[in-house]
Amino acid sequence: MIIVMRPDAGEQAVQKVVEKLKKNGYQIHESRGVEKILIGAVGEKSDNVNMAIEALDGVEKVIPILAPYKLAGREFHREDTVIRVGELTIGGPQLQVMAGPCAVESREQLLEIAFMVKESGAKILRGGAYKPRTSPYAFQGMEEKGLEYLAEAREKTGLSIVTEVMDTRKVELVAQYADILQIGARNMQNFPLLKEVAKAKKPVLLKRGMAATIDEWLMAAEYIMLSGNHQVILCERGIRSFDDTYSRNVLDLSAVPILKQLTHLPVIVDPSHGTGKWPLVEPMARAAVAAGVDGLIIEVHTRPGEAICDGPQSIKPERLSNIIVEIGKIAAVMGRTL
Ligand code: PEP
Ligand code: MN
Repeated sequence: MIIVMRPDAGEQAVQKVVEKLKKNGYQIHESRGVEKILIGAVGEKSDNVNMAIEALDGVEKVIPILAPYKLAGREFHREDTVIRVGELTIGGPQLQVMAGPCAVESREQLLEIAFMVKESGAKILRGGAYKPRTSPYAFQGMEEKGLEYLAEAREKTGLSIVTEVMDTRKVELVAQYADILQIGARNMQNFPLLKEVAKAKKPVLLKRGMAATIDEWLMAAEYIMLSGNHQVILCERGIRSFDDTYSRNVLDLSAVPILKQLTHLPVIVDPSHGTGKWPLVEPMARAAVAAGVDGLIIEVHTRPGEAICDGPQSIKPERLSNIIVEIGKIAAVMGRTL
């Protein structure tokens, strides 16, 4: 629920409300505007507590939060959340492009691509060291060695790093190397992992499950937030539908403006997994920016034909540079920068 305090309510009145809520097991999030003090309280719904709070001095009204997600919802937090990654921001006026190979394949491969990503103007390097593969016989990632190469690439290029963590037992390790921890589509509802990743206190990039509704996705974000980490970036990466003849997934771009209404969290789009085909990446990247995203995550490979993982959807670095020029123009129309 949200408690709206009367404009003339003093500090004592605010503290009384907060104490009462805490006593009843609520998590408190205060928001002090110029005119109003709002107290957000997250906990189990109780008519008795509602009535008791309403009766306290200085309380103007108590508004129940109707959406099933509380912390992630706009009702609770009206302003856009801006996440800081070093000197970068995600969710502010500047769009962020994350780019790199699907998987870290070798030191040389990663460094070569990293320098080209840097050259293109993108500021965040992606690359999986732990790969969720459909086949247990397929390459599973370079694991800690891959993380070391990512850290070396960061040191040499200044790019920030986003990489996936799949296992609760590896969260601490991956968090030592990554600037942003990625939760993959297959793990969107791995609730123990969501709770564990929150503990790392680093931004989390939460991909949409391939058959997840928007509410389910926001509830997954809620798990991370309720566990104490409010730095969640939502990533639309395409959902499964009936026709996979021409694209691997259906990239749900309508999710972008829908999420912008429902949540204050930053939203990015992955046109690579969203389409599965490199010629579709650029048009969908442009469309995503026009739809109002806060960033993109794009798979890039110098030799897509030889990529161990996701070659058909990987673009060459030259194309990334081109995409960045193109989306820069659309960003300007949208009142954003790149
Ligand atoms: C990835 O980003 O490499 C990946 C495995 O993505 P997703 O979880 O969206 O399939
Ligand atoms: Mn991939």
